[in-house]
Amino acid sequence: MKVYKFGGASVKNADGVRNLRQIIDGEQQLFIIVSAMGKTTNALERVFAAAQQHNPAAAQTEIDQIREYHAAIISDLWQESHQLEHVEAQFADLEAFVAANNYKVEEAEAWYDRIVAYGELISTTIVSEYLNHTGLKNTWIDMRQAIRTEQRHKDAEVDLAASTPLLKAALQEAGGSIFVGQGFIGGAPDGTTTTLGREGSDYSAAVVANILEAESMAVWKDVDGVLNADPKIFADAIKIPELNYIDTIELAYSGAQIIHPRTIKPLQNKNIPLYVRPFGDKHKPGTAICGTSPKVEVPILILKKDQVLLVIRSRDFSFVLEEKFATIFSLLEKYRVKVHLIHNSAVDIGVCVDQSWHIDEVVEALREANFDVQKMVDMELLTIRGYNDELRQKYSTGPHVLIKQMSWESMRIVRKKA
Ligand code: ASP
Ligand code: MG
Repeated sequence: MKVYKFGGASVKNADGVRNLRQIIDGEQQLFIIVSAMGKTTNALERVFAAAQQHNPAAAQTEIDQIREYHAAIISDLWQESHQLEHVEAQFADLEAFVAANNYKVEEAEAWYDRIVAYGELISTTIVSEYLNHTGLKNTWIDMRQAIRTEQRHKDAEVDLAASTPLLKAALQEAGGSIFVGQGFIGGAPDGTTTTLGREGSDYSAAVVANILEAESMAVWKDVDGVLNADPKIFADAIKIPELNYIDTIELAYSGAQIIHPRTIKPLQNKNIPLYVRPFGDKHKPGTAICGTSPKVEVPILILKKDQVLLVIRSRDFSFVLEEKFATIFSLLEKYRVKVHLIHNSAVDIGVCVDQSWHIDEVVEALREANFDVQKMVDMELLTIRGYNDELRQKYSTGPHVLIKQMSWESMRIVRKKA
Protein backbone atom coordinates (compact mmCIF):
# COMPACT_ATOMS: atom_id res chain seq x y z
CA MET A 1 0.00 0.00 0.00
CA LYS A 2 1.11 3.56 -0.75
CA VAL A 3 -0.36 6.72 0.74
CA TYR A 4 -0.69 9.86 -1.38
CA LYS A 5 -1.71 13.17 0.12
CA PHE A 6 -3.07 16.04 -1.94
CA GLY A 7 -3.28 19.43 -0.25
CA GLY A 8 -5.82 22.16 -0.83
CA ALA A 9 -3.72 23.99 -3.43
CA SER A 10 -3.41 20.86 -5.55
CA VAL A 11 -7.18 20.41 -5.80
CA LYS A 12 -8.18 24.06 -5.89
CA ASN A 13 -9.91 23.74 -9.28
CA ALA A 14 -11.11 21.17 -11.80
CA ASP A 15 -7.71 21.04 -13.51
CA GLY A 16 -6.19 20.10 -10.17
CA VAL A 17 -8.61 17.22 -9.74
CA ARG A 18 -7.94 16.04 -13.30
CA ASN A 19 -4.23 16.23 -12.57
CA LEU A 20 -4.72 14.11 -9.42
CA ARG A 21 -6.48 11.55 -11.61
CA GLN A 22 -3.52 11.55 -13.96
CA ILE A 23 -0.98 11.20 -11.12
CA ILE A 24 -2.64 8.13 -9.65
CA ASP A 25 -3.28 6.53 -13.01
CA GLY A 26 -1.99 2.96 -13.02
CA GLU A 27 -1.57 2.80 -9.22
CA GLN A 28 -2.91 -0.16 -7.29
CA GLN A 29 -3.19 -0.42 -3.52
CA LEU A 30 -3.41 3.25 -2.80
CA PHE A 31 -4.85 5.33 0.01
CA ILE A 32 -5.49 8.92 -1.06
CA ILE A 33 -5.80 11.62 1.57
CA VAL A 34 -7.31 14.88 0.36
CA SER A 35 -7.56 18.29 2.06
CA ALA A 36 -10.30 20.84 1.60
CA MET A 37 -10.21 22.48 -1.83
CA GLY A 38 -8.28 25.73 -2.15
CA LYS A 39 -8.98 28.09 0.73
CA THR A 40 -12.19 26.39 1.84
CA THR A 41 -11.00 25.88 5.43
CA ASN A 42 -10.48 29.62 5.80
CA ALA A 43 -13.96 30.24 4.41
CA LEU A 44 -15.42 27.71 6.86
CA GLU A 45 -13.60 29.47 9.69
CA ARG A 46 -15.58 32.55 8.67
CA VAL A 47 -18.79 30.51 8.79
CA PHE A 48 -17.83 29.49 12.30
CA ALA A 49 -17.05 33.11 13.27
CA ALA A 50 -20.48 34.19 12.03
CA ALA A 51 -22.17 31.38 13.96
CA GLN A 52 -20.22 32.40 17.02
CA GLN A 53 -21.55 35.93 16.68
CA HIS A 54 -25.08 34.54 16.33
CA ASN A 55 -25.27 35.89 12.82
CA PRO A 56 -26.86 33.10 10.73
CA ALA A 57 -27.38 35.45 7.78
CA ALA A 58 -23.64 36.18 7.50
CA ALA A 59 -22.92 32.46 7.90
CA GLN A 60 -25.35 31.68 5.09
CA THR A 61 -23.68 34.21 2.78
CA GLU A 62 -20.34 32.48 3.34
CA ILE A 63 -21.88 29.04 2.80
CA ASP A 64 -23.45 30.23 -0.46
CA GLN A 65 -20.01 31.26 -1.72
CA ILE A 66 -18.45 27.95 -0.71
CA ARG A 67 -21.27 26.12 -2.46
CA GLU A 68 -20.84 28.13 -5.68
CA TYR A 69 -17.12 27.50 -5.68
CA HIS A 70 -17.58 23.73 -5.41
CA ALA A 71 -20.50 23.70 -7.86
CA ALA A 72 -18.29 25.31 -10.50
CA ILE A 73 -15.62 22.64 -9.99
CA ILE A 74 -18.20 19.84 -10.23
CA SER A 75 -19.74 21.22 -13.42
CA ASP A 76 -16.32 21.66 -14.97
CA LEU A 77 -15.35 18.07 -14.07
CA TRP A 78 -18.55 16.52 -15.40
CA GLN A 79 -18.54 18.97 -18.33
CA GLU A 80 -22.19 19.77 -17.89
CA SER A 81 -24.29 21.28 -15.19
CA HIS A 82 -24.17 18.51 -12.64
CA GLN A 83 -25.05 17.99 -8.99
CA LEU A 84 -23.71 15.40 -6.62
CA GLU A 85 -26.34 14.16 -4.24
CA HIS A 86 -23.86 13.53 -1.43
CA VAL A 87 -22.37 16.99 -1.72
CA GLU A 88 -25.85 18.52 -1.66
CA ALA A 89 -26.59 16.53 1.49
CA GLN A 90 -23.38 17.76 3.14
CA PHE A 91 -24.24 21.37 2.41
CA ALA A 92 -27.75 20.80 3.73
CA ASP A 93 -26.34 19.39 6.99
CA LEU A 94 -23.96 22.31 7.38
CA GLU A 95 -26.73 24.81 6.75
CA ALA A 96 -29.10 23.14 9.17
CA PHE A 97 -26.44 23.02 11.85
CA VAL A 98 -25.61 26.72 11.51
CA ALA A 99 -29.21 27.86 11.07
CA ALA A 100 -30.23 26.21 14.36
CA ASN A 101 -28.32 29.15 15.88
CA ASN A 102 -27.80 27.60 19.30
CA TYR A 103 -24.10 28.26 19.65
CA LYS A 104 -22.77 28.09 23.19
CA VAL A 105 -19.51 29.62 24.21
CA GLU A 106 -18.31 26.56 26.10
CA GLU A 107 -18.70 24.52 22.94
CA ALA A 108 -16.67 26.86 20.72
CA GLU A 109 -14.01 24.35 19.79
CA ALA A 110 -16.44 21.50 19.19
CA TRP A 111 -18.46 23.80 16.94
CA TYR A 112 -15.37 24.86 15.08
CA ASP A 113 -14.47 21.23 14.34
CA ARG A 114 -17.98 20.31 13.33
CA ILE A 115 -18.12 23.20 10.83
CA VAL A 116 -14.63 23.19 9.31
CA ALA A 117 -14.72 19.40 8.77
CA TYR A 118 -17.12 19.94 5.88
CA GLY A 119 -14.25 21.19 3.71
CA GLU A 120 -12.65 17.76 3.65
CA LEU A 121 -15.96 15.86 3.62
CA ILE A 122 -16.97 17.73 0.47
CA SER A 123 -13.60 17.64 -1.30
CA THR A 124 -13.18 13.89 -0.82
CA THR A 125 -16.72 13.25 -2.03
CA ILE A 126 -16.04 15.16 -5.22
CA VAL A 127 -12.67 13.48 -5.82
CA SER A 128 -13.97 10.00 -5.08
CA GLU A 129 -17.03 10.38 -7.29
CA TYR A 130 -15.01 11.91 -10.09
CA LEU A 131 -12.54 9.01 -10.02
CA ASN A 132 -15.41 6.53 -10.16
CA HIS A 133 -17.02 8.55 -12.95
CA THR A 134 -13.82 8.27 -14.99
CA GLY A 135 -13.58 4.53 -14.44
CA LEU A 136 -11.18 4.50 -11.50
CA LYS A 137 -13.01 2.43 -8.95
CA ASN A 138 -12.42 3.55 -5.37
CA THR A 139 -14.13 3.74 -2.01
CA TRP A 140 -14.78 6.83 0.08
CA ILE A 141 -13.78 6.34 3.70
CA ASP A 142 -15.35 8.35 6.50
CA MET A 143 -12.36 9.25 8.64
CA ARG A 144 -14.58 10.44 11.49
CA GLN A 145 -15.27 6.75 12.01
CA ALA A 146 -11.86 5.37 11.08
CA ILE A 147 -9.51 7.73 12.93
CA ARG A 148 -10.00 7.96 16.68
CA THR A 149 -8.52 10.98 18.41
CA GLU A 150 -8.23 12.09 21.99
CA GLN A 151 -11.25 13.85 23.49
CA ARG A 152 -10.04 17.32 22.59
CA HIS A 153 -11.15 19.70 19.89
CA LYS A 154 -9.38 21.88 17.33
CA ASP A 155 -5.92 20.36 17.76
CA ALA A 156 -6.50 16.74 18.65
CA GLU A 157 -3.88 14.06 18.66
CA VAL A 158 -4.63 10.71 17.04
CA ASP A 159 -4.95 7.63 19.24
CA LEU A 160 -3.01 5.22 17.03
CA ALA A 161 -3.84 2.11 19.02
CA ALA A 162 -7.56 2.81 18.94
CA SER A 163 -7.54 3.84 15.28
CA THR A 164 -5.72 0.76 14.00
CA PRO A 165 -8.59 -1.74 14.22
CA LEU A 166 -11.11 0.92 13.11
CA LEU A 167 -9.26 1.85 9.93
CA LYS A 168 -8.44 -1.74 9.08
CA ALA A 169 -12.07 -2.77 9.54
CA ALA A 170 -13.24 0.14 7.38
CA LEU A 171 -10.97 -0.97 4.52
CA GLN A 172 -11.97 -4.57 4.89
CA GLU A 173 -15.61 -3.65 4.72
CA ALA A 174 -15.06 -1.35 1.76
CA GLY A 175 -13.09 -3.90 -0.24
CA GLY A 176 -11.22 -2.85 -3.38
CA SER A 177 -7.74 -1.42 -3.54
CA ILE A 178 -8.10 2.35 -3.89
CA PHE A 179 -9.45 4.45 -1.05
CA VAL A 180 -10.15 8.14 -0.65
CA GLY A 181 -10.28 9.63 2.84
CA GLN A 182 -10.32 13.07 4.44
CA GLY A 183 -7.21 14.59 5.90
CA PHE A 184 -7.41 16.77 9.01
CA ILE A 185 -10.46 15.16 10.66
CA GLY A 186 -11.24 12.34 13.03
CA GLY A 187 -13.71 11.34 15.70
CA ALA A 188 -13.45 11.68 19.47
CA PRO A 189 -14.40 8.88 21.88
CA ASP A 190 -17.74 10.65 22.48
CA GLY A 191 -18.51 10.46 18.75
CA THR A 192 -18.10 14.14 17.95
CA THR A 193 -15.98 15.35 15.03
CA THR A 194 -12.45 16.50 15.81
CA THR A 195 -9.72 18.21 13.77
CA LEU A 196 -5.98 17.77 14.02
CA GLY A 197 -4.85 21.41 13.77
CA ARG A 198 -4.50 23.58 10.68
CA GLU A 199 -2.60 21.88 7.88
CA GLY A 200 -3.17 18.58 9.67
CA SER A 201 -3.80 16.49 6.56
CA ASP A 202 -0.14 15.51 6.34
CA TYR A 203 -0.43 14.09 9.83
CA SER A 204 -3.57 12.16 8.80
CA ALA A 205 -1.69 10.66 5.87
CA ALA A 206 1.22 9.65 8.11
CA VAL A 207 -1.19 8.01 10.55
CA VAL A 208 -2.77 6.02 7.72
CA ALA A 209 0.68 5.04 6.43
CA ASN A 210 1.67 3.87 9.90
CA ILE A 211 -1.48 1.81 10.46
CA LEU A 212 -1.40 0.20 7.03
CA GLU A 213 2.39 -0.24 7.16
CA ALA A 214 2.63 1.52 3.82
CA GLU A 215 5.72 1.12 1.65
CA SER A 216 5.86 4.91 1.25
CA MET A 217 3.96 8.14 1.61
CA ALA A 218 4.00 11.02 -0.87
CA VAL A 219 2.81 14.57 -0.35
CA TRP A 220 2.02 16.23 -3.71
CA LYS A 221 2.64 19.94 -3.52
CA ASP A 222 2.88 23.05 -5.65
CA VAL A 223 6.66 23.25 -5.12
CA ASP A 224 9.51 21.17 -6.52
CA GLY A 225 10.25 19.61 -3.14
CA VAL A 226 11.57 20.89 0.17
CA LEU A 227 13.49 24.15 -0.24
CA ASN A 228 16.07 25.54 2.20
CA ALA A 229 14.01 28.70 2.67
CA ASP A 230 10.68 30.19 1.71
CA PRO A 231 11.40 31.76 -1.71
CA LYS A 232 8.80 34.44 -1.01
CA ILE A 233 10.86 35.65 1.95
CA PHE A 234 14.46 34.76 1.18
CA ALA A 235 15.92 35.01 -2.30
CA ASP A 236 18.16 32.20 -3.61
CA ALA A 237 16.17 29.35 -2.09
CA ILE A 238 17.29 25.98 -3.40
CA LYS A 239 15.77 22.51 -3.38
CA ILE A 240 17.09 19.88 -0.95
CA PRO A 241 17.09 16.44 -2.62
CA GLU A 242 17.33 14.35 0.55
CA LEU A 243 16.54 14.94 4.20
CA ASN A 244 16.61 12.78 7.30
CA TYR A 245 13.74 12.53 9.79
CA ILE A 246 15.49 14.56 12.48
CA ASP A 247 16.26 17.54 10.25
CA THR A 248 12.73 17.40 8.88
CA ILE A 249 11.11 17.38 12.28
CA GLU A 250 13.30 20.31 13.39
CA LEU A 251 12.41 22.22 10.25
CA ALA A 252 8.70 21.60 10.57
CA TYR A 253 8.79 22.54 14.23
CA SER A 254 10.63 25.78 13.50
CA GLY A 255 7.85 26.76 11.15
CA ALA A 256 8.98 25.58 7.73
CA GLN A 257 5.75 25.09 5.85
CA ILE A 258 6.76 21.81 4.31
CA ILE A 259 4.75 19.44 6.39
CA HIS A 260 2.84 19.41 9.62
CA PRO A 261 5.24 18.91 12.57
CA ARG A 262 3.45 15.79 13.79
CA THR A 263 3.88 13.98 10.48
CA ILE A 264 7.30 12.45 11.00
CA LYS A 265 6.78 10.42 14.17
CA PRO A 266 4.24 7.91 12.77
CA LEU A 267 6.49 7.45 9.73
CA GLN A 268 9.72 7.16 11.69
CA ASN A 269 8.15 4.59 14.00
CA LYS A 270 7.61 2.24 11.06
CA ASN A 271 10.55 3.46 8.97
CA ILE A 272 8.34 4.62 6.09
CA PRO A 273 9.95 6.98 3.56
CA LEU A 274 8.21 10.26 2.79
CA TYR A 275 8.42 11.93 -0.61
CA VAL A 276 7.57 15.58 -1.16
CA ARG A 277 6.77 15.77 -4.85
CA PRO A 278 5.73 18.44 -7.33
CA PHE A 279 2.13 18.18 -8.26
CA GLY A 280 2.81 19.72 -11.65
CA ASP A 281 5.21 17.04 -12.86
CA LYS A 282 5.02 13.49 -11.60
CA HIS A 283 8.33 12.63 -13.26
CA LYS A 284 10.38 15.00 -11.11
CA PRO A 285 11.90 13.34 -8.05
CA GLY A 286 11.08 15.96 -5.38
CA THR A 287 12.62 15.45 -1.94
CA ALA A 288 13.08 12.06 -0.28
CA ILE A 289 12.87 11.99 3.51
CA CYS A 290 14.00 8.89 5.37
CA GLY A 291 16.01 7.80 8.39
CA THR A 292 19.28 7.24 6.59
CA SER A 293 19.57 10.45 4.57
CA PRO A 294 22.69 12.49 5.30
CA LYS A 295 22.62 15.78 7.20
CA VAL A 296 21.82 18.79 5.05
CA GLU A 297 24.85 20.81 3.91
CA VAL A 298 23.24 24.16 3.12
CA PRO A 299 21.94 26.58 5.75
CA ILE A 300 18.19 26.44 6.22
CA LEU A 301 16.24 29.59 7.02
CA ILE A 302 12.80 29.47 8.53
CA LEU A 303 10.66 32.41 9.50
CA LYS A 304 7.74 31.80 11.81
CA LYS A 305 5.30 34.68 11.77
CA ASP A 306 2.47 35.70 14.10
CA GLN A 307 4.42 35.20 17.27
CA VAL A 308 3.95 36.74 20.71
CA LEU A 309 6.67 37.18 23.31
CA LEU A 310 5.54 36.75 26.90
CA VAL A 311 7.95 37.87 29.59
CA ILE A 312 6.92 36.28 32.86
CA ARG A 313 8.34 37.26 36.25
CA SER A 314 7.43 35.95 39.66
CA ARG A 315 6.23 38.76 41.90
CA ASP A 316 7.97 37.35 44.95
CA PHE A 317 11.30 37.12 43.11
CA SER A 318 11.52 33.34 43.35
CA PHE A 319 13.82 31.73 40.82
CA VAL A 320 11.71 30.92 37.80
CA LEU A 321 13.58 27.87 36.60
CA GLU A 322 13.91 26.11 39.92
CA GLU A 323 10.65 26.96 41.60
CA LYS A 324 8.17 28.15 39.03
CA PHE A 325 8.89 26.35 35.82
CA ALA A 326 6.27 23.66 36.31
CA THR A 327 3.54 26.16 37.19
CA ILE A 328 4.22 28.32 34.15
CA PHE A 329 4.37 25.43 31.74
CA SER A 330 1.33 23.66 33.04
CA LEU A 331 -0.67 26.84 32.50
CA LEU A 332 0.68 27.23 28.96
CA GLU A 333 -0.21 23.60 28.27
CA LYS A 334 -3.65 23.98 29.82
CA TYR A 335 -4.48 26.82 27.44
CA ARG A 336 -2.81 25.03 24.54
CA VAL A 337 -0.40 27.84 23.89
CA LYS A 338 2.48 26.47 21.83
CA VAL A 339 5.94 27.49 22.99
CA HIS A 340 8.66 27.78 20.37
CA LEU A 341 11.53 29.32 22.29
CA ILE A 342 12.41 29.79 25.94
CA HIS A 343 14.84 32.33 27.34
CA ASN A 344 15.45 32.74 31.04
CA SER A 345 17.28 34.85 33.59
CA ALA A 346 17.13 34.42 37.36
CA VAL A 347 13.67 35.77 37.94
CA ASP A 348 12.08 35.98 34.55
CA ILE A 349 11.42 33.79 31.62
CA GLY A 350 10.62 34.82 28.08
CA VAL A 351 8.58 32.48 25.91
CA CYS A 352 7.94 32.96 22.24
CA VAL A 353 4.53 31.50 21.45
CA ASP A 354 2.03 31.34 18.62
CA GLN A 355 -0.58 34.05 18.46
CA SER A 356 -3.67 32.02 19.43
CA TRP A 357 -7.19 32.30 20.73
CA HIS A 358 -6.03 31.68 24.26
CA ILE A 359 -3.16 34.10 24.84
CA ASP A 360 -5.18 36.53 26.93
CA GLU A 361 -6.62 33.74 29.03
CA VAL A 362 -3.20 32.36 29.84
CA VAL A 363 -1.87 35.83 30.65
CA GLU A 364 -4.79 36.27 33.02
CA ALA A 365 -4.18 32.88 34.63
CA LEU A 366 -0.46 33.62 35.07
CA ARG A 367 -1.26 36.95 36.72
CA GLU A 368 -3.63 35.19 39.08
CA ALA A 369 -0.83 32.77 39.89
CA ASN A 370 1.30 35.69 41.09
CA PHE A 371 3.36 36.49 38.01
CA ASP A 372 3.87 39.79 36.26
CA VAL A 373 3.42 39.26 32.56
CA GLN A 374 4.45 41.50 29.75
CA LYS A 375 2.96 40.67 26.36
CA MET A 376 4.67 41.79 23.15
CA VAL A 377 2.81 41.21 19.92
CA ASP A 378 3.86 41.35 16.25
CA MET A 379 6.91 39.17 16.72
CA GLU A 380 8.64 36.77 14.37
CA LEU A 381 10.91 33.85 15.09
CA LEU A 382 13.76 33.31 12.67
CA THR A 383 15.61 30.00 12.83
CA ILE A 384 18.76 29.37 10.84
CA ARG A 385 20.04 25.82 10.92
CA GLY A 386 23.64 25.43 9.85
CA TYR A 387 24.31 29.19 10.03
CA ASN A 388 27.58 30.75 8.87
CA ASP A 389 29.33 34.03 9.71
CA GLU A 390 27.68 35.91 6.92
CA LEU A 391 24.17 34.89 7.99
CA ARG A 392 24.98 35.53 11.64
CA GLN A 393 26.09 39.08 10.90
CA LYS A 394 23.20 39.75 8.62
CA TYR A 395 20.43 38.63 10.94
CA SER A 396 21.57 38.83 14.55
CA THR A 397 21.90 42.56 15.05
CA GLY A 398 19.66 45.58 14.89
CA PRO A 399 17.15 47.31 17.14
CA HIS A 400 14.32 44.92 16.25
CA VAL A 401 16.21 41.88 17.60
CA LEU A 402 14.95 41.05 21.10
CA ILE A 403 16.33 37.59 21.76
CA LYS A 404 19.24 35.85 20.13
CA GLN A 405 20.11 32.25 20.87
CA MET A 406 22.91 30.28 19.34
CA SER A 407 23.84 26.65 19.58
CA TRP A 408 26.33 24.49 17.73
CA GLU A 409 23.79 23.93 14.98
CA SER A 410 21.27 26.69 14.91
CA MET A 411 20.72 30.36 15.52
CA ARG A 412 17.34 31.60 16.64
CA ILE A 413 16.20 35.19 16.70
CA VAL A 414 13.02 36.66 18.13
CA ARG A 415 12.49 39.99 16.44
CA LYS A 416 9.87 42.63 16.04
CA LYS A 417 8.10 42.39 12.70
CA ALA A 418 9.59 44.88 10.26
N1 ASP B 1 -7.83 21.91 5.23
C1 ASP B 1 -7.06 22.02 6.44
C2 ASP B 1 -6.36 23.36 6.49
O1 ASP B 1 -6.40 24.09 5.52
C3 ASP B 1 -6.10 20.90 6.61
C4 ASP B 1 -4.99 20.82 5.60
O2 ASP B 1 -5.01 21.51 4.58
O3 ASP B 1 -4.07 20.06 5.82
O4 ASP B 1 -5.78 23.69 7.47
MG1 MG C 1 -5.18 23.37 3.44
